[in-house]
Amino acid sequence: LNYPTASFMTSAPTLAQCPSDIGAEVAFAGRSNAGKSSAINALTQQKGLARTSRTPGRTQLINFFSVANDEALRLVDLPGYGYAQVPEAVKLEWQRHLSEYLRERFSLRGLVLLMDVRHPLTEFDQMMLGWADKREMPVHILLTKSDKLKNGPAKAALQKVRSRLHEWEDLVSIQLFSSLKREGVDTLSQRLDQWLSP
Ligand code: GDP
Repeated sequence: LNYPTASFMTSAPTLAQCPSDIGAEVAFAGRSNAGKSSAINALTQQKGLARTSRTPGRTQLINFFSVANDEALRLVDLPGYGYAQVPEAVKLEWQRHLSEYLRERFSLRGLVLLMDVRHPLTEFDQMMLGWADKREMPVHILLTKSDKLKNGPAKAALQKVRSRLHEWEDLVSIQLFSSLKREGVDTLSQRLDQWLSP
């Protein structure tokens, strides 16, 4: 698919307000600051498509982008999680929205889970993996900002995450990714194609 054709469709504060649950979509999730907006912008070759609108405590939206002018093919930018400053009640509320979306969204074909290569598999990342696993939803992990490590340590980090997730190897794939150096964009596109192509 031609991801640079992606364009903003709509934002939704809750699952109930999401666009019709038809066609196919893939969702991007990750701890805030993991590099999610940068990755979506690298994939779509659009600098401002996914905006880094992160005001802790404010309600965050689920953003939908259509691909190739087809609203039945969507990329979904889920709210980043893990703001330290956010009140516990707001965190729980978001947790509820995310888990509801992951459990109930029928058109969801796969989840791209972004983790900073230097801080992979946080508690919340593991929770997301657990929710995906419950539905047998495939997950593609991007170990982001791989340019921050030298080649050897980056590969070692990749192996380590792989070995920790080996029990889920049927459902989980993992790669290194750098938006800055545009590394791993093709691999990501191919994975998305597998999920979104009819
Ligand atoms: P988000 O909160 O997950 O959407 O993260 P952003 O995409 O806004 O990125 C958070 C910070 O990490 C920003 O300062 C980015 O410039 C930086 N960043 C994102 N991707 C990369 C990358 O591939 N390499 C490096 N070195 N920095 C990155």
